[in-house]
Amino acid sequence: MNKFNPAFIVRENIKKLSPYQAKEIPCKIKLDANESPFPVKLSDFISEVNIPLNRYPDPEALKLRKALAKKMKISYTNIMIGNGSDELIYYLILTFGGPVLYPIPTFAMYGIIAQSVGVKKFESKLDSDFDINEEEMINLIKTEKPRLIFISSPNNPTGNTFSTDKILKIIDTARKNPSIVVIDEAYQPFCSDRGFLPFLKDFDNLAILRTLSKIGLAGLRVGYLIGNENLLSEANKVRLPYNVDVLTQYIATAALSKFYAQIKNFITEIVKERIRLQKELSKIKGVTVFPSEANFILFKVKNSQNVYTKLIKSGILIRDMSSTIKNALRVTVGTKEENKEFLKVLNNIL
Ligand code: PMP
Repeated sequence: MNKFNPAFIVRENIKKLSPYQAKEIPCKIKLDANESPFPVKLSDFISEVNIPLNRYPDPEALKLRKALAKKMKISYTNIMIGNGSDELIYYLILTFGGPVLYPIPTFAMYGIIAQSVGVKKFESKLDSDFDINEEEMINLIKTEKPRLIFISSPNNPTGNTFSTDKILKIIDTARKNPSIVVIDEAYQPFCSDRGFLPFLKDFDNLAILRTLSKIGLAGLRVGYLIGNENLLSEANKVRLPYNVDVLTQYIATAALSKFYAQIKNFITEIVKERIRLQKELSKIKGVTVFPSEANFILFKVKNSQNVYTKLIKSGILIRDMSSTIKNALRVTVGTKEENKEFLKVLNNIL
């Protein structure tokens, strides 16, 4: 009998994917994943509470949705919680299918999830200022009829926000198609404008994706989708009933009340540091810095691979973006001390 080989029966679209590589690179300063550098500990939240682990979590995550709704002054019925926003991207593509359209370079998961679900994807290159190519996007909407359009603003990895006018035109064109536009606002808390929440009332094909990951709670895995009830109720059909565990629901809800002032302080501190880091980086010869409204900065050097490796040797881990943007590196804004050390080492390398 032939040996059983699962690779023979795997779906065609899965063959092109590889498993997520969680290769740990030892470092003393970790500035590669756009996390918050400020430690938040489990014991800050659960020292005195009894959480029943023999029971399933609330499948509706009501307390957490209500806590989020209060912060945004919207109804909790317009919020759906995911195990990170990654899961919500997956649910959206599973529910509405493809084609999926997004500008590039951007967050890789839109393409990876489209590929795993098995839907077609269309990519539109950003212009030389990393802004959206409005004409091409609108053309693709009309000709390819995407079901979902993902726009990360501020965009990862470029760091900039896109022109609001261009996005509004895209949403308006998409509405007639009809397609849903998802504005991924993972980095909105670090950004000077208010994002797309105020436009939700104007467009029923608009949804907004946010996360607690970038503002201090990446380990918890809480993402949330904001949209009208009809849209959410479709996506809710594929949501696994217990997608957000009991500890996560408890801690995230507590963090939004007890810990919120602290979170806001951390955000202010990161924005301050980002501005300083940007200024200092631009003073280094051989570095081109791009504007950022996020908690990270994209910059270019002559030989990014060499700089990346030398930084690792000094215990500093950043992200090598050269496979998507030539000679580009992405550094997450760390604490004042971490940023100082990063700048010192980079200065020595260049
Ligand atoms: N969207 C963007 C633009 C991101 O950069 C990231 C994380 N890198 C995510 C979504 C995923 O966030 P989460 O941790 O909530 O899954």
